[in-house]
Amino acid sequence: MVLIDAGRCTGCNLCVFSCPERALSCYGLARLDPKRCTGCLACLGFCPMGAIIGKTEGG
Ligand code: SF4
Ligand code: SF4
Repeated sequence: MVLIDAGRCTGCNLCVFSCPERALSCYGLARLDPKRCTGCLACLGFCPMGAIIGKTEGG
């Protein structure tokens, strides 16, 4: 599971294509669908703004 830092996200759309589960969408601001996210963290390195933050389970 990852978190989107809304304060950093510029809505650039890059992360949407990084997610193999299509858990990320972006309409002005990136959004995560937690039901689809498998926690693979493939999206982490894609955000040029560092707005995608890894979150450990239960934390
Ligand atoms: S790549 Fe980063 S800045 Fe761009 S839409 Fe995704 S979370 Fe926002
Ligand atoms: S952690 Fe994996 S499944 Fe979850 S949003 Fe990122 S790329 Fe998609």
